[in-house]
Amino acid sequence: MTGLVDPRTWSPCRLCPRQCGVDRAASRVGYCGAGDWLQVFRSGPHAGEEPPISGERGSGTIFFSRCTLRCCYCQNHPWSQDGQGAEWTEEDLVRELTRLRETGCHNWNLVSPTPWWPAILPALERVRAGGRIPVVCNTSGYERPEMVAALAGAVEVYLTDLRYARPETAGAASDAADYVAVSRMALKAMWREAGPLELDEAGMARRGTICRILILPGHAGEAVESLEWVAREIGTDLAISLMAQYTPAYRACAMPPWNRGITMREYRQVTEAMEALGFSLGWIQEFGGPPPDGLLGHTMPAGPAGSAPVSGG
Ligand code: SF4
Repeated sequence: MTGLVDPRTWSPCRLCPRQCGVDRAASRVGYCGAGDWLQVFRSGPHAGEEPPISGERGSGTIFFSRCTLRCCYCQNHPWSQDGQGAEWTEEDLVRELTRLRETGCHNWNLVSPTPWWPAILPALERVRAGGRIPVVCNTSGYERPEMVAALAGAVEVYLTDLRYARPETAGAASDAADYVAVSRMALKAMWREAGPLELDEAGMARRGTICRILILPGHAGEAVESLEWVAREIGTDLAISLMAQYTPAYRACAMPPWNRGITMREYRQVTEAMEALGFSLGWIQEFGGPPPDGLLGHTMPAGPAGSAPVSGG
């Protein structure tokens, strides 16, 4: 997992912790299935992220195809695991990034960009010459710390996850038994590079780190362990987005306990721990709120109707 990484090459590809080492330029594909062409499922202004990301005009979101995890409950599986999405050239990406900025989006929100950085970075450099808005790296948290360091200057905001606290859960649910160790090292690297959440005068994220913790059925205790780890290893000034929206999807529909939503008891277990630990910044999603639409994945309804600011600290 250690070693240098060049975010501008997939030949050989060592962009994520899998470090497949395949030569994608020679039409080889690794674990994620990404090839030597950029693949995008959908893009546009998005209102469903945390308030300082979506704001009033939306987050300029690009959903990239492919993923370095294989979560059994993934709502985005048609493009994250089943390979749907259109092939884009660098020109296509430049055009779309420009359009999103000119539409008034508050930021460029890159969802699951990791297999595609060698195509994304040149496009970002070109479009930023015409005007900058923050780049949000919207990630599962399964990232190489070296990659986070290598992206300094290219990413302003990390919107990342801590999904699990037990390797056996991460292995069973996402085929990544090393997720716990990797995501924790990656979060520390993000904190070093981007730091705490900084808002501009309009309350929008200018730079910083937001950590999402999704309460998973049967595994609420792991969410508590993740919060305890953050409080101990990073601090309670890391912005936490605690999410209660888990909905069974994909293979999870036939896999107990993943085939049910969370219970009120599980919800209370985590929210009470978050309060007791003294986190001072973030959001707690309401229990039993409106279900997300098919695109939201691991996000929350925007605004005060769907999320409550953390009041502790
Ligand atoms: S991005 Fe894909 S091909 Fe590259 S190392 Fe990760 S899983 Fe393998």
